[in-house]
Amino acid sequence: MISIRGLGKSFGDTVVLRSIDLEIARGEVVVILGPSGSGKSTMLRCMNLLERPSSGKIFFKGKDITAPGIDVNAVRQHMGMVFQQFNLFPHLSAKRNVMIAQRKVLKRSREEAERIALEELDKVGLADRVNYMPAQLSGGQQQRVAIARALAMNPDVMLFDEATSALDPELVRDVLGVMRDLAHRGMTMVVVTHEMGFAREVADRVVFMDGGVIVEQGTPEQVFDHPTSERTQDFLGHIA
Ligand code: ADP
Ligand code: MG
Repeated sequence: MISIRGLGKSFGDTVVLRSIDLEIARGEVVVILGPSGSGKSTMLRCMNLLERPSSGKIFFKGKDITAPGIDVNAVRQHMGMVFQQFNLFPHLSAKRNVMIAQRKVLKRSREEAERIALEELDKVGLADRVNYMPAQLSGGQQQRVAIARALAMNPDVMLFDEATSALDPELVRDVLGVMRDLAHRGMTMVVVTHEMGFAREVADRVVFMDGGVIVEQGTPEQVFDHPTSERTQDFLGHIA
């Protein structure tokens, strides 16, 4: 689904990613771990071209999306992204938040956009909140609206950047539950998270990054129970 080859990214003199190679297969759930500042967000942002790579190539469904003249919006349309901050439109109901990009970007009819919005909100457990405004929803509910909004666009892959980090602990579980359901339905997912329980249970592969490189990757058992790198051991030791 995604093939990252020799990806480098610098901001001015600051080198943030150094020659990253990563393959993500269709239906795979890849969890990215690593200390703050290791380049996790920058890597995700390069994947959907929110950041332009400084070097290297990224292939998405076989197509080089780093080639000149690529339609950035067309690429992004096929990659759903969920951030730590939910970024809902505050003046629109949950349902209208899920409808708006369907209408404007995909040009779906009002009826179709509404039907899909209700379906997606139902899947994230918010069937009874469709007419609520964001301010009337908990952080966890708002994040689930943001997930429904991304899913309504029929993405081929979902990118999650610390989607639960801004939530109170008691709200984290519901959002992780939605992400788990999505994984079980076969969605291709790249998930930056500090939730080790989720990583262990849901990830097909765990990737540990530090200092802009992939230090180690493997199954959850390999990385959590038998990390080979001292840096990985150190990181896991600190958060355990
Ligand atoms: P992580 O998500 O793992 O915490 P980031 O990808 O956000 O790491 O950041 C990696 C490094 O890149 C940090 O040192 C950060 O300060 C730097 N960085 C990220 N975005 C920018 C930017 N737009 N301009 C300059 N430096 C940036
Ligand atoms: Mg980050």
